[in-house]
Amino acid sequence: MNVVCVGAGPAGLYFAILTKLREPGAAVRVVERNPRGVTYGWGVVFWDDLVNSLRHSDPETTRLILEDANKWHDQEVQVGEAKPARMGGYGYSIGRARLLEILTARAESLGVTVEFDAEVGPDETFPDADLVVAADGANSRTRAQYAEHFAPTIESGRNYYIWLGTRKLFDIFTFAFEQTSAGWVWLHAYRFSNEYSTCIFECSPETWKGLGLDTMSIDEGLTLMQKVFARELDGQELITQIGPTGRPWLNFADITNRAWHHDNVVLMGDAAHTTHFSIGSGTKLALEDAIGLDRAMRAHADLPSALAAYQADRAASVAVRQASARASTAWFENVAEHIKTDPVRFSYALRTRREQPAGLSWLLHRATQYRAGQIARRWVSTAKRKIRPA
Ligand SMILES: Cc1cc2nc3c(=O)[nH]c(=O)nc-3n(C[C@H](O)[C@H](O)[C@H](O)COP(=O)(O)OP(=O)(O)OC[C@H]3O[C@@H](n4cnc5c(N)ncnc54)[C@H](O)[C@@H]3O)c2cc1C
Repeated sequence: MNVVCVGAGPAGLYFAILTKLREPGAAVRVVERNPRGVTYGWGVVFWDDLVNSLRHSDPETTRLILEDANKWHDQEVQVGEAKPARMGGYGYSIGRARLLEILTARAESLGVTVEFDAEVGPDETFPDADLVVAADGANSRTRAQYAEHFAPTIESGRNYYIWLGTRKLFDIFTFAFEQTSAGWVWLHAYRFSNEYSTCIFECSPETWKGLGLDTMSIDEGLTLMQKVFARELDGQELITQIGPTGRPWLNFADITNRAWHHDNVVLMGDAAHTTHFSIGSGTKLALEDAIGLDRAMRAHADLPSALAAYQADRAASVAVRQASARASTAWFENVAEHIKTDPVRFSYALRTRREQPAGLSWLLHRATQYRAGQIARRWVSTAKRKIRPA
């Protein structure tokens, strides 16, 4: 069997590993646009459920990941000067760069060819491949190439966020909310190595514009965040990498696809679906997709049956997570309302946000987006009819 994985993120690399474990004679290539060792993003969190899934599929990769993972205990919610509330719990975190390094080394040790600095073009096909795995992330070109078959839906979140690093070590998973002249800004922070923590800042579009973050340079924006969160950062600097879009502040894109496979091309990980970063699940789902497709390939001798079984199995699991993620997104889009209560009630609401129904303003926003989409689609189809030759 000849397999090509587009993208050396967690999904592409882990599927390559599992393919080699299942079928050592298979030719497996992973094609990645970035140079070796270069990636976007800082640390990611995960929990025991992922560790268990990984342990069943490849104990060696699990051992290597756990050797490097940081274990965090407890969660804290800080609202301005108020006494922080503790919420308990524990989990793991690991630097994204380190995770990819581990997966790449494991894949190569099994005989996978990982090609770096190899960008796949918009119309590129792999005629010799029996299976092409589109693991090229949220902005997947492969998904765009076959969009009429996959029928993706991409909805942009309201809030703006930026994914940064810092040398301030947050041993406790921390949510901190600070009020500014233009509204609330908050951070999600956790340590992922002996040197660094992840720091994700988020705010509403009104606050983002009100603070001038839309026109400031990246350095000015970081200086402002350092000032607003001086209490939490203990004077440590914020460190940036610009992501694949080249824009420092982004809106989260909620992605779903009606079909996950077309001929011998299959979507995996963020290319197939996304979940808001506030529930820390995207990497887990990407790795579990790889496990799901591997399981389907073991169970079905022919590729079309395996791909259909993969979609049926994974789409159901992913839908549950996406529902939680949407509840969490909606909660963070309504921080200004929730934060009017006292800090303890607010912290409890934060902890249980995944179970809460969406707020009114979020529903209105979504309805407006849906209506705007309908109008745009109608406009395009009228325009197409008008320019169609007689
Ligand atoms: C702010 C933030 C925080 C997050 N925190 C967490 C967390 O705590 N826990 C968690 O589980 N998840 C987290 N996630 C989500 C997680 O990062 C993603 O869900 C995960 O990386 C998806 O893996 P993937 O392999 O599908 O895609 P990616 O990791 O995006 O990998 C895709 C790869 O494809 C490559 N590529 C793209 N286009 C091409 C091309 N044309 N040719 C060749 N290569 C290409 C890219 O360079 C990239 O290396 C977070 C995400 C964000 C934005």
